[in-house]
Amino acid sequence: MRKFWQIYEILTLLRDLGYIFCLQMKCPKCGHLYSKVTDTRITADMASIRRRRICLRCGHRFFTNEIVCIEYPIVIKRDGREEEFDGEKIKIGLLKAFKKQAGIKEKVNNIVNGVLAEVISKYPDRIQAKQIGTIVMNLLKINEPVAYLRFASIHKNFETAKDFALEFEQLLLDLPK
Ligand SMILES: [Zn+2]
Repeated sequence: MRKFWQIYEILTLLRDLGYIFCLQMKCPKCGHLYSKVTDTRITADMASIRRRRICLRCGHRFFTNEIVCIEYPIVIKRDGREEEFDGEKIKIGLLKAFKKQAGIKEKVNNIVNGVLAEVISKYPDRIQAKQIGTIVMNLLKINEPVAYLRFASIHKNFETAKDFALEFEQLLLDLPK
C-alpha cells in the first residue's frame, strides 16, 4: 500500500509540474511520446481545451486540442438490430423532405440540433429508430408542414393516396388556427 501512495505522489508531482504523459501525443517532429504542457486554454463555450506543449526530447512546440464528445444512445432498428446513432442520417432524411427550398441548410441544421438535444436529454442509453422519426416529425409539424408531409410519407411508410390524405387531414387539425 505504501508503494501505491509513493507512485501516486510522484504522479501528482509530475502532473503539477506540467508533465502530462499521454502516449497518443507523439511529437509531430521527432515522434517522442512525452511532452510538457506549458499553457492550457479553455474556449469561452467551455467545449474545448487547447494545450500548448513542448516536446521533452527535441523542444518542438505544438498544440493539442481536446474537444467534448457527446455520447449518443444506441439505436434499435425496426427489425430489432442495434446500430450506432448517426446524426447524418437525420440530416439526409430532412434534406429529402425539404427538397430545394431556399435557406434549407440552416433550417435542416436547426431541426437536427433540436432533435439531438431531445435525444440526449430523454434517451441517454437506447432509442427506437421510430422514436427518432417521431421527434423529427414533431419538430417539423407546426413550422414546416409541407416538409412534414414528405417526411411522414417516408417515415410512416405511406402506401396509398388515402394514407397521405388522412395524414393531411390530421395535420390541418393540428396546425394552429
Ligand atoms: Zn520532438
